[in-house]
Amino acid sequence: MKLKNFIGGKWIEAETHQRVPIINPANGEVLGEVPLSTNHEVDLAVSAAKKAQKQWALVPAPKRAEYLYEIGFKLKEKKEYLAQILTKEMGKVIEEARGEVQEGIDMAFYMAGEGRRLFGETTPSELADKFAMSVRSPIGVVGLITPWNFPIAIATWKSFPALVAGNTFVWKPSVETPLMAYELGKIFEEVGLPEGVANIVFGAGTEVGTALIEHPEVKVISFTGSNATGSKVAELGGRHLKKVSLEMGGKNAVIVMDDADLNLATEAIIWSAFGTAGQRCTACSRVIVHKDVKGKLEERLVEAISHLTIGDGLDPTVKVGPVINQSALEKIDHYVQIGKQEGAKLLAGGNILSTPPFENGYYFEPTVFTDVKNEMTIAQEEIFGPVVSIIEVNSLEEAIEVNNSVKFGLSSSIFSQDVNKIFKAQRDLDTGIVYINAGTTGAEIHLPFGGTKGTGNGHRDSGQAALDVYTEWKSVYVDYSGKLQRAQIDN
Ligand code: NAD
Repeated sequence: MKLKNFIGGKWIEAETHQRVPIINPANGEVLGEVPLSTNHEVDLAVSAAKKAQKQWALVPAPKRAEYLYEIGFKLKEKKEYLAQILTKEMGKVIEEARGEVQEGIDMAFYMAGEGRRLFGETTPSELADKFAMSVRSPIGVVGLITPWNFPIAIATWKSFPALVAGNTFVWKPSVETPLMAYELGKIFEEVGLPEGVANIVFGAGTEVGTALIEHPEVKVISFTGSNATGSKVAELGGRHLKKVSLEMGGKNAVIVMDDADLNLATEAIIWSAFGTAGQRCTACSRVIVHKDVKGKLEERLVEAISHLTIGDGLDPTVKVGPVINQSALEKIDHYVQIGKQEGAKLLAGGNILSTPPFENGYYFEPTVFTDVKNEMTIAQEEIFGPVVSIIEVNSLEEAIEVNNSVKFGLSSSIFSQDVNKIFKAQRDLDTGIVYINAGTTGAEIHLPFGGTKGTGNGHRDSGQAALDVYTEWKSVYVDYSGKLQRAQIDN
């Protein structure tokens, strides 16, 4: 399948003949081709979005929301079909792919509900016969730039609040996972979204992404991806005075205290560290464990790993799928070599799998390092693969200090039965998401999603907070006194 861009309600061939193959990471199968579009297509898409936006903003929000309900129903109807494609192009196991599509369904219905909320505030005026309120206004054309690891969920986190709030958008998906974008585009078409309200331009970040950020008619950029790219997006966006929302990497930890339920902690670590082959921004990449239970936890982890089936995610018995591509495989391997050189002890895994049946895909063994010191590279940098580092601590205070010592601040978790420790931890862990007696993954769409410090720049996806990215606050004063009343002076 040769993909086309979705611009102004039509599927339009890119002018360029440059295309890249879409590869199934489980077995190297070529699933299609994606165009590397240029500024030209970005211009067309932004013009279409600009043209549609005024009218779209005048459609009452509950009516805009009706499209989102329809999108939600379509996603529901196609859930299994979409999950199969998602597993093929991204590699995550089928159960997780279904979960990801479900996230999109949940987001559609949640944001559709916003059509009848989009709450502002009314508040008394300090002057007599005067009324004061604040309302949310749409911003205009927004640019969405998304990664490959959640190719449909993240797109819905961004596009649905943008739409319900009265914006139109141009979305640049990752070239690694364009099929999910194509399928979502088809759904936008099927539900009859007015032409130009939703636009999709495929291509490289350096070309299409840059053109979107620089385009004077694009007022907001919502980006999810790596820190290296995010800082470029922020820099360029800043130069053009754009509102830029950034969701970036993580170095998430599970803390296991001496009173923890070790079986539960083990299950949660395995799920958080090796689910999606560790390629979640919230993946557990560190286990911070109390010295008294370190040995017992390690035994349980090694035992649990020996039962993990690795392979093509379409096989329902498989628990760990491939990583996205060759360069991801090399990057993970590079970190594992650094871990060894820096003196960490390999407890499980550590190798690329390249013999049959893995020879055509990109597979890395679930890997655990122990005796990791907090200053080691593998304890500080995002690896984005199935690699976890065990760090020993002596107390809750030390555990929190270690957790907070990384440059990222996305997700953290603590296992303990002690309510005092739990409340201290939820107060002092400096991440945007904290789990108690659960792993580091598993966010629900009606809560804010995002991180502190190097993970983000203060914005959030999902939840009510997402609306702040796609709306401007407008404060409205209505003076019905019939005379000039001066605030701060005449009261
Ligand atoms: P990436 O930064 O390589 O790419 C993300 C997107 O940015 C892609 O669409 C890419 O084409 C585009 N891009 C690349 N260069 C660009 C440029 N110069 N200008 C504009 N756009 C550009 O990230 P990735 O490898 O696709 O995704 C993995 C990363 O995403 C990990 O670091 C992960 O932690 C992060 N992530 C974060 C969250 C979160 O919510 N915090 C969620 C998922 C993934």
